[in-house]
Amino acid sequence: MRLESEAPLLRTELPGPEAQAVIEADEAVTSPSLTRAYPLVPARGYGSHVEDVDGNVFLDFNAGIAVCATGHCHPEVVDAITQQASELIHYCTSDFYVPVYERLCSRLAALAPFPGDARVFLTNSGTEAVEGAIKLARSSTGRFHVVSFLGSFHGRSYGGMSASASKAKHRSPFGPLLPGMVHAPYADLFGRAHRDRPEIAVDNYLEDVLFRRIVHPEDVAAVLVEPVLGEGGYLVPPVEWIRRLREICDAHGILLIADEIQSGVGRTGSMWAIEHFGVQPDIVLSAKGLASGMPLGALIARSSIMSWEPGAHGSTFGGNPVSCAAALATLDLVESGLMDNARRVGELILQGLEPLRSHAGVHDVRGLGLMIGVEFETDELADAVQGACFERGLLVLRAGDETIRISPPLVLTEAEAREGVRIFGEACAAAL
Ligand code: PLP
Repeated sequence: MRLESEAPLLRTELPGPEAQAVIEADEAVTSPSLTRAYPLVPARGYGSHVEDVDGNVFLDFNAGIAVCATGHCHPEVVDAITQQASELIHYCTSDFYVPVYERLCSRLAALAPFPGDARVFLTNSGTEAVEGAIKLARSSTGRFHVVSFLGSFHGRSYGGMSASASKAKHRSPFGPLLPGMVHAPYADLFGRAHRDRPEIAVDNYLEDVLFRRIVHPEDVAAVLVEPVLGEGGYLVPPVEWIRRLREICDAHGILLIADEIQSGVGRTGSMWAIEHFGVQPDIVLSAKGLASGMPLGALIARSSIMSWEPGAHGSTFGGNPVSCAAALATLDLVESGLMDNARRVGELILQGLEPLRSHAGVHDVRGLGLMIGVEFETDELADAVQGACFERGLLVLRAGDETIRISPPLVLTEAEAREGVRIFGEACAAAL
């Protein structure tokens, strides 16, 4: 169903009566661990518009946390899903050969941001791709430790949670966590003192601290990094920092794993964010935007690395045929224009937000493509702006401590981008 072309269009107080009823019923039965950012109760979506159960239409600068890459219910994705669902919904891809699974693996192998052959393992989610990567790195190197970074988020299962260091409450009630997971400063986040020489922060810590005092580099299987920090606050690290990570990995025989679960599939204006840095990882992880909202993740590795024996790894639902079909349609759209649109419209949004820099209470405006962060002086301010956006019909979501992330569908038009920027500015003026 096509929604009205005008967004936002608010018809009721927020939340409206239908939304209020859903919220009350939901809160009585769902896990209290869920954090609902604000009382949005979506019923349907089209492109960059979301309509709630009361008929209020919102402009979506969030895309279900950077998931609905091709917008809501893109007709080509819906067709691919419908067609596949009418032919074959499931046949365990770990045990049998399913054509659409092979087609997607071939497509992703060809898109791998490193030269040479690649192999692909498909999962249900991002965290499951991270688990697979930790297992693969350990088994292929015979080493045990994995280095990840302060501020990063890699998921909620034990490997992903142990690699994450974004919020203590994600980890501390659940110990003991996976052994062998160590953390280092993420360049920009905790390396502000070295901003003028970004390579120093990582040199000092990895080589001079971590590898000297905590873990010998020859015991490290992998460095796991988000090329653009996602949940931790939409931070774009200095090019030199990522390049230096590659050099350090090469010097010690360590695998470099790019967690592109949030930043990949065209969102930053290139297929993988790490391509902006001119660095080739050994393993790439994808999920979120890959299948436009159908659950799917991928672990893409150099063939020489993905050499585990039959039975070493598998999944009942991973690489479900319907999700694979949605992913193939998504990649067609991303490659035939949406990735370029993300770059162009992202630039427009960044330019539009630039004047906010001089606003009291705004600390930073930054981003790559349609992965944009506006950092405020305090988390209360970020919260107030997020709420003020919702009241005006613009959907955004906080990330990190004091940042609001802007991660719209890649189909966002220039007119929608301008309207969103206008509302964001209005929300800042009201809240700051
Ligand atoms: N890695 C990154 C960079 C993420 O942003 C996320 C989710 O936000 C994950 C891993 C976990 O993905 P999922 O929630 O699909 O398990």
